Amino acid sequence: MKERIRENLHTTCTERMDKMSEEFAALFADPVERITGLLSERVEAEMPMTAAVREDWPPCFESAVSELNQGVNVNHVGRVFLAAFSKSVGMSQEQTCSFFANAPDYSADTTSYQVNQIYERDYTPHGCAALKTSARCPVQPGDDRLCDQEWLTHPLKYLRAKQRSRYREVSQAAEESEVVEDEVEHHGEFIDLPSRPVHPKPLQDPHPPLYQACTGTESLLDAAARGIGALVLGFGGPGEVAAKNEAYRRAFAERRPEDQVGFAPNEHLAALCPAVVLDDGVEARRIGLRGQRFFLEAIAHWGTVPIWFKNRISSAPASSSCST
Ligand code: SF4
Repeated sequence: MKERIRENLHTTCTERMDKMSEEFAALFADPVERITGLLSERVEAEMPMTAAVREDWPPCFESAVSELNQGVNVNHVGRVFLAAFSKSVGMSQEQTCSFFANAPDYSADTTSYQVNQIYERDYTPHGCAALKTSARCPVQPGDDRLCDQEWLTHPLKYLRAKQRSRYREVSQAAEESEVVEDEVEHHGEFIDLPSRPVHPKPLQDPHPPLYQACTGTESLLDAAARGIGALVLGFGGPGEVAAKNEAYRRAFAERRPEDQVGFAPNEHLAALCPAVVLDDGVEARRIGLRGQRFFLEAIAHWGTVPIWFKNRISSAPASSSCST
């Protein structure tokens, strides 16, 4: 029923939007701008998921994949979860279907049909509570440090936390290798780097300012906590940039000295704010909306974004958001 309502709303809205003139559509530019800002935040938040490496998979997903691979009969919840989770992290349908190839009741056609249904209907993967109730959570207290956390209520949160830790460690080692003198050595949870000289080193003193591209709030606060500059998207307009700036400044002021990356702190926030300036506001919006839509489509095409976002981009109306 919920799916029917969603499909019906989608069809009705798309038909009506096709009949709108540019001028009439321009009346909705401000709310569209706000929604696009929220959408880009969501894309930003989900982007890294698609780069998931197997070591970062949550135990519930890993066990479902392994059990099926060994010919164990995983229950219905486990199978649906496996397909929905695979979709959320950007795996292809073919890849997801291949997880079922050794299942005792495997049928290529049935698997392909059912996986396709889950992808088409945009299923959300089960949370930890549902997986525990259905005997699809393989860990006991003390087995996994992350699963023991109170805030860990969903396997996607597990994946994200792992990716954050991995990213932080790798980027810290990489950034310091560029500016720290002499040899660089790092032994951490994710990378093991023996002592090595890294050349060339910057001649200027202090070294050039360090920046981090921050596509979401988490990475923005991370850059501030590490005392480096932040490059952010300002698609949501001046209000969004002001909020990001305030959060960045506050986190920068509260950072711990031992977390500083490089020798020279760099308190600087730069925002990408698309703008089209013309005498004709409607024309400016029309051009800006096309340009910004192109930008989002390019991210979807070249970046590693989830399939749900690619689907939404491909079915979105020919308008998006812009700042004039
Ligand atoms: S606690 Fe949650 S994330 Fe961890 S294995 Fe269980 S269901 Fe998966």
